Amino acid sequence: MTPTTPEQALAELHAGNRRFVTGVPRHPNQDAGHRAAVADGQHPFAVIVGCSDSRLAAEIIFDRGLGDLFVVRTAGHTTGPEVLGSVEYALTVLGTPLVLVLGHDSCGAVQAAKEAVTTGRTPAGHLGAVVDAVVPSLRRAAAEGVEDIDGIVDIHIAQTVEALLASSPVLAGAVAAGRCAVVGMSYQLGAGEVRTVATVPAGAPTRPPAQVEHPTPTAVG
Ligand SMILES: [Zn+2]
Repeated sequence: MTPTTPEQALAELHAGNRRFVTGVPRHPNQDAGHRAAVADGQHPFAVIVGCSDSRLAAEIIFDRGLGDLFVVRTAGHTTGPEVLGSVEYALTVLGTPLVLVLGHDSCGAVQAAKEAVTTGRTPAGHLGAVVDAVVPSLRRAAAEGVEDIDGIVDIHIAQTVEALLASSPVLAGAVAAGRCAVVGMSYQLGAGEVRTVATVPAGAPTRPPAQVEHPTPTAVG
């Protein structure tokens, strides 16, 4: 059944990530029958605003399939007007109950911004726009005394959650009305696990509910 509340959507994502991490993915909704079933309409249960990093493929790491996730990805999950418009489309037209900001450890966009701040040189071309969008998170990290790259990534994820809410009255209104939640997670490239970094509203669940299934962990080569 497709989740219709933020709590159900989060539980689905956590359950899928657990299957992925433990090596027992089900690959749901990837068969020809489901492909045909969703051809006439989509009802994705989560919007994912994620980094473009090739190792952060949302449907794989959350073990989902066609029609499940509305994915918007930019390097460093920056949030320009087209990203905001895409999120608002999912909220207002598709009725999606959850927005997930998905960053990851060792993020190259965050590293590039750190280097730009250190050297005072912004990369040439449009890459400069990505770096400029991440720099405020670097400043905030510096103000909080955070220097390690993964600590800065956490701050950048939280900053992205706040930026989405501050820039989109449509999203803020949906959250205030209880129709939607915004959650920030950091993905570990090596382990494949997600860790919750930020949650709005603050009372939304951040951990998976009691496991219904108990898959046997398998060694990952
Ligand atoms: Zn990245």
